[in-house]
This record gives sequence, C-alpha cells and structure tokens, in this order.
Amino acid sequence: MTVRTRIAPSPTGDPHVGTAYIALFNYCFAKSQGGEFLLRIEDTDQQRSTAASEKAILDSLRWLGLDWDEGPDVGGPSGPYRQSERSDIYQQHCQQLIDQGKAFRCYRTAEELNTLRESRREAGLHTALKASDLRLSEEEVQAREAAGAAYVIRMVVPEEDGRCEIDDMLRGKIELEWSQVDAQILLKSDGLPTYHLANVVDDHLMGITHVLRGEEWINSAPKHKLLYEYFGWEMPQLCHLPLLRN
Ligand code: GLU
Repeated sequence: MTVRTRIAPSPTGDPHVGTAYIALFNYCFAKSQGGEFLLRIEDTDQQRSTAASEKAILDSLRWLGLDWDEGPDVGGPSGPYRQSERSDIYQQHCQQLIDQGKAFRCYRTAEELNTLRESRREAGLHTALKASDLRLSEEEVQAREAAGAAYVIRMVVPEEDGRCEIDDMLRGKIELEWSQVDAQILLKSDGLPTYHLANVVDDHLMGITHVLRGEEWINSAPKHKLLYEYFGWEMPQLCHLPLLRN
C-alpha cells in the first residue's frame, strides 16, 4: 500500500500558520513512508472562497518547501483537485445515499430548526436533530415541493443512544455519543456539498490512506465513519493533531 496524505485548505482568507503546520506533518509522514502528499482545495463555500486566497496559500506552502505530488496546479490522476470542479461527483454520491435510504430531502426552514432545537433544549435534551425530528407529513412535503421551496439533503444518523468508536493514530480509541450527532447536511440548497460529504468522497476517490488534521475535526469523525460505512468504503486512518496555541 502506498501511503497517501493530503492537505485540504479552504481558500477563504490569508494563509494560516495552522495550515502550514498540518501540511508539514502530512508531508513528513507521507515522505517517511515513501508515500505521496496531495493538495486539494476545499472551496465549497463559494461566498467566501477567492482565487487570490488560493494563490496565496499555494505560494506560501511552496515557499516553505512543502511540495505536493498532486494538486490543482500540478495535476495528477485523481483530479480535479478543486472541489468546486467536482459537483457532479458529489451529486451522484448523494443520490446513491438517497436511493439507499441513508439520506433524505429536508424542507425545514431556519425558523423551524430553531424552534425544534429550542424545544429540545427546554426539555433538557441534546439539540442534535435527527431524521424523525425533521420529518414533515406527506401533504406538507408536497405543498412545499409545489411551492418550489428550498431544500437540503441530510444524512440519516443513529437515533438510539450509544457510542461511536473512533480509532485515532495519536489518541487511541475515542468515544463519541451518537446523541450529539445531528442529521448532517450533505448537499446545501445551492446543490453544493458540505465539507463532510466532499471530504469523505474525495479522500476515498483520491486514495488517501491517512488523514492527519486538526483536533477541531474530532466531532466530525462519527459522521465521516458513518459515511464510509454507507458507501461500503474503508476509512482512512485518522490522526487528530493538537491545535497550535500561543
Ligand atoms: N478544509 C478543511 C480545513 O480547512 C480540511 C479539514 C480536513 O483536513 O479534513 O481545515
């Protein structure tokens, strides 16, 4: 097996030292194993992503000597390496989950979501919303569809209590409560994917074997693990690195 790691910056601002730090560990780990290091641009937030930010991030990583074997500027066999150019791939994969009953259309408005969360908070429950909380009657769905209401695609997550176990290269076994995991949006109302769907699909299709990323992503790991299971794919080895402080 060839070790393949990646850095996946979002081009939404100035280059950040945190990106360089995570890139350094991915680069060194891949090279220490005779592996490959990729660069992927996660620009699914079309409002905040800019070409100038992407260029500045690429320039700064290259200035640091963290050269990538595959990426948007150098190409490679698993491209395109910019998520905004992969919309069809995410839509196909999302449709596959819908067909399997693992994802569903959700017509709930922002106000309704707030009310649902508020009533759960008042009842002393977790505010994570599940498919059963979000479901609308068949007539209501038809009425909203007919009115051309906006919808998102969400994933089905376990509703019963229990824990998700994550095997982390650095931390060993991490356990997270399913009760805290909500029916994550996979495709937004503009048809673009969220980080979670795009990240899992791309890591798989790009042959990533090890995901070394900041610890702020630990809470996403159960959703990602579930997506790998839904697709029937092997999950890369996860490694959550401590954040840089001070
Ligand atoms: N786009 C994410 C970021 O900007 C990537 C996180 C990951 O490595 O999975 O941090």
